[in-house]
Amino acid sequence: MHQEARDLLFTGQVIAVYKDRYLIAYDQQRIMAEVSGRFLYLHTLKSEYPQIGDYVKWRLANVDLGIIEQVTERKSILARQDVGESKEKHILAVNIDVVFICMSLNEDFSITKLRNFLSLTYGAHFETMILLTKKDLCINVTSYIEHIKHVTDDKIMTMSIYDNDDMMSLKTEIKDKTVVLIGSSGVGKSSVINALMGIDHFKTKDIRIKDAQGRHTTVNRELIELDHGAKIIDTPGIRIVSSYQVSEENFEDIINLSKGCRFQDCKHDKEPGCMIRKALDSGEIDASRWLQYQKAIRLNAYNKQRETERERMREKQASKRYE
Ligand code: GDP
Repeated sequence: MHQEARDLLFTGQVIAVYKDRYLIAYDQQRIMAEVSGRFLYLHTLKSEYPQIGDYVKWRLANVDLGIIEQVTERKSILARQDVGESKEKHILAVNIDVVFICMSLNEDFSITKLRNFLSLTYGAHFETMILLTKKDLCINVTSYIEHIKHVTDDKIMTMSIYDNDDMMSLKTEIKDKTVVLIGSSGVGKSSVINALMGIDHFKTKDIRIKDAQGRHTTVNRELIELDHGAKIIDTPGIRIVSSYQVSEENFEDIINLSKGCRFQDCKHDKEPGCMIRKALDSGEIDASRWLQYQKAIRLNAYNKQRETERERMREKQASKRYE
């Protein structure tokens, strides 16, 4: 291959992430790619590496291998940060427009789980919707909806994969958008994706490639393109529900402002010299964003308390074992 061809930079989107390779979609084509030596040298954090949904600048190494030189700025990030884990966030998907938190309308429904999933979405740059699945199994849908309204203002959709009108509404909702379905195992995420695609994607899927060491490796996250412009990211990683902490990084503006308050323990209520109140009055911060922040803080406190309780239970059980 000519040197000039190797120097050309293309833009593409990462649609599947393997152990150390990435599948890139560009101009209706696909190519497997690795990051360049320079990229490896410059980036140490996992989160800086290409993620599912990332737009990357890449060049050709040979006809069937691309070399990724750069990850372009991310419009939105869905990340998980487990309580007590290291500071680094575990990115699940990027450049998303809507995250659907899926909950099934049966005995698996749990407000606690919903709170946990919601904590992943506060302050993020994507829209969040609650997708209530298996409507056909439920006789009191409205009471579930009422319950949810106490916890969040996010839009709620109800559906059954067996109802054509519901499937049409969902298709309309996601048209030309990149979406992620999150929720516990068994709530129907794969079934929804299959129904949207009209085929059994997960049965037919068998993408196996060889990694750099020649071992077989299976795809763990992928972006599926539907025929009406919608893209769905499938991230099994999200099925592990535990307690999450909302990252304060998402609310840097509010945190920085509150540092200027006259009192260190300012509740941002009616105290004199409160910078938050001032910013709210002047419109520097949005009332809805302030509300979002307050919810996030409450949720963090709630999750922390639960984690402490769990820890206490574990200790109790452990000490019993030695009695
Ligand atoms: P996932 O683990 O979230 O991907 O869940 P699956 O898609 O594997 O679904 C779990 C089970 O729920 C399967 O047996 C599906 O057939 C069933 N299921 C999914 N959606 C619906 C629905 O709308 N109505 C009913 N009755 N069952 C559903």
